[in-house]
Amino acid sequence: MIAETAAAIRRGELRARELVESCLSRIASLDALLGCFLTLDGERALERAGHIDEELARARQHGGRAAGGTGGLKARGGAPGASGGNQAGDGLLLGIPYACKDNICTRGVPTTCASRILEGYVPPYSATVVEGLEAAGAVLLGKTNMDEFAMGSSGENSAFFPTRNPRDTTRVPGGSSSGSAAAVAAGLVPFALGSDTGGSVRQPASFCGVVGFKPTYGRVSRYGLVAFASSLDQIGPLTATVEDCALVMEVLAGHDPRDATSADVPVPAYREVLGREVRGMKLGVPREYMGEGIEPGVREAVEAALRVFEDLGCVVEECSLPHTEYALAVYYLVAPAEASSNLARYDGVRYGLRVEGGDITGMYSHTRRQGFGAEVRRRIMLGTYALSAGYYDAYYLKAQKVRTLVKRDFEQAFSRYDLLVAPTSPTVAFRLGERTEDPLSMYMADVCTIPVNLAGIPAISIPCGEEAGLPVGLQIMGPPFAESTILQAAHAFERATVGASWRRRGGEGR
Ligand code: GLN
Repeated sequence: MIAETAAAIRRGELRARELVESCLSRIASLDALLGCFLTLDGERALERAGHIDEELARARQHGGRAAGGTGGLKARGGAPGASGGNQAGDGLLLGIPYACKDNICTRGVPTTCASRILEGYVPPYSATVVEGLEAAGAVLLGKTNMDEFAMGSSGENSAFFPTRNPRDTTRVPGGSSSGSAAAVAAGLVPFALGSDTGGSVRQPASFCGVVGFKPTYGRVSRYGLVAFASSLDQIGPLTATVEDCALVMEVLAGHDPRDATSADVPVPAYREVLGREVRGMKLGVPREYMGEGIEPGVREAVEAALRVFEDLGCVVEECSLPHTEYALAVYYLVAPAEASSNLARYDGVRYGLRVEGGDITGMYSHTRRQGFGAEVRRRIMLGTYALSAGYYDAYYLKAQKVRTLVKRDFEQAFSRYDLLVAPTSPTVAFRLGERTEDPLSMYMADVCTIPVNLAGIPAISIPCGEEAGLPVGLQIMGPPFAESTILQAAHAFERATVGASWRRRGGEGR
């Protein structure tokens, strides 16, 4: 879909400005209800789209190659993404509007992480992914709502307002990339960026019925992503189709010397594998993901998806990841511990909010008490406790050891299987307010996605059915840097189910 749109813009059949206008008018009519955007940058988007149209018209007149290769369409200061051998700069996403989660820095556009403490913060630089998208011709429309500092699974932890699920506005869209998932599901933008620390791209994708991808740790630069838990965080795209996901991944992936954990691994042309047969592929289904706690309707939809893979010639077998039951506990020690350290920088001195409090310690504590919401404060306290003298060995160090066991489970499974398949979330989208008083039930929403982050492996969520009219997500996990294999299988499934009854509803209104 995105590739055809970009091609139409390049040929002059569709003007980039018209496309931005149509997205903005859809946002104007729907977003008061949905609450996807924290900041809209409509003026600048229109201007940039107009500039793209002019450059293309000029290039066509001169019979030259009309493309993003023209200097004017490149990112200011060059195309840093190009260092990774990715396609940045060649206009892959020429004139395509997108939305960006509000924890990814955008030069000149407010970046708040949906927190009062960063209200009014305007970054002086853009994240590498944002520069890469700009170099590829994409047009930033605005910044999306999220759980504060990406801590949450429903979008309700935003300090500003909750986002609603476009499929049923009494329900949550999932989180923490709530606005990004809902914006794509409602057809407000062709694609959006999210971040995934414990499931925050995949789980909202599952709840909203869109495609969400969490790449291998190190595959996509984290430079300019506001850190939550640095050993787990990874940026990923939310799209309407697997093909769109592969296309955007070609732009996002790549080595970045500005991120010390970025991997210097060549980026394959992800779209090349789309359409290839999956016959003979070995898929493991971890039994720990299909048992207790998984809603029957979710399990049934996933089982039906497994039959589709069998019909496509895949070998589907039950397998085991024995340490799965510890993953949630490990995550809620490791992630808060890292967060407590990362969030120490918000002290009223350097960024955003400052609340005076007599002396400097008073100022620190007033600023942090008023600036952070309840969930963020809970995480900081949990993390500080887990790292404190006398408790470090019992909690943080122990959690790191068990994290290794979780990772080994996956290594063993991938010695026998090409990919692992499971539900993305144990339930479909729940109602707004249903879990806000019960943090543990909220944390359970990520029980199927968290092990992937602990192991650093890639995984996608794609729509695979419905339960009571709400989307169910299928999670496909692969070994490190097996993004292509995951996309190949996801695409095969998508093609095999184009006519399915649950697909039609998702396509409405686009
Ligand atoms: N819901 C999980 C949490 O609250 C994961 C969030 C994320 O992936 N950013 O920590």
